[in-house]
Amino acid sequence: MEVVTYSKNIFIPITNACRNRCAYCGFRSSNPELLSPEEVRELLVRAKNASEALFTFGEKPDIYPEIAEKLKQLGYKDFISYVAEMNRIAISMGFLPHTNAGILSREEIKKLKPFNASMGLMLEQAVELECHTSSPGKKPEKRIKMIKEAGKLSVPFTTGILVGIGETEEDRIYSLEVINELYENYGHIQEVIIQNFQPKKGTEMMNTPPPEPQEILKTVKAGRQLLNNEVTIQIPPNLLDIYPLLKAGARDLGGISDFIDFINPEHPFPSENEIKKQLRGEFHLKERLPIYPQYIKKKWFSIEISELVVSLSDPEGFRCYNSI
Ligand code: SF4
Repeated sequence: MEVVTYSKNIFIPITNACRNRCAYCGFRSSNPELLSPEEVRELLVRAKNASEALFTFGEKPDIYPEIAEKLKQLGYKDFISYVAEMNRIAISMGFLPHTNAGILSREEIKKLKPFNASMGLMLEQAVELECHTSSPGKKPEKRIKMIKEAGKLSVPFTTGILVGIGETEEDRIYSLEVINELYENYGHIQEVIIQNFQPKKGTEMMNTPPPEPQEILKTVKAGRQLLNNEVTIQIPPNLLDIYPLLKAGARDLGGISDFIDFINPEHPFPSENEIKKQLRGEFHLKERLPIYPQYIKKKWFSIEISELVVSLSDPEGFRCYNSI
């Protein structure tokens, strides 16, 4: 039976400050907040059975004086040093971090790499789109450059495309081709998320309809045809009917959490049992870590997290519960 994977995670939105203003974003706030180390610890303590600490937050938040000031008060010289410290806290509590920090320089990736099992950056689309007019970090060339740098540094990586934000079908295919080329050159892309745009109240795109399920299905099929077989296609189980997409070649459901999806809070995650029902006995559900089995076998992880990776993984590289 074909295996479908997922990870158990706890979402840690370090800050909702972001230099970008994507027309569809319901996460960014103009009254930005920064989680304190105590608040990060509190979130982690509440995470039952999770192996992944998913750090996702706005891009370059320290351009805002209130965030820069709070970092100073907490004793950190810059935001990335702060993220590294939050990653270390998660590791000390038994979680493997996965960080989505937006655009990072090579030096910043190097700083975070030892404390992350994998890192991520959605490509979104490899073409310029109107919804990104006020988002300097969403320039396709900047995102491609960062994904390349992560590849050069051998960081197991997650990327993906957001479908329904004004792109054409050709743009989607082109974006998937760009991702595949990055994988062929650097071998680091473990998964590609194919995510459907969801309109959010109060955003510029609140009246834009989400893409039809057929569009997503077509995109998953195209992705499976043109991406290397080593690259898994991930789909979000709280936003889409997963069965037809699994039949079309998707094989991962991303992070499932006991908490809300902070990016799509109106769509709660299904339980493991609900997911199993949707698999109709045709797929075997297996939990993985934020680093995929093939990268565990290749030892693409640092000494800082090696003990955790070994204790949390079974001989095949999936999640094990025995030795914790
Ligand atoms: S980069 Fe992310 S957090 Fe920032 S505005 Fe765009 S969608 Fe929102």
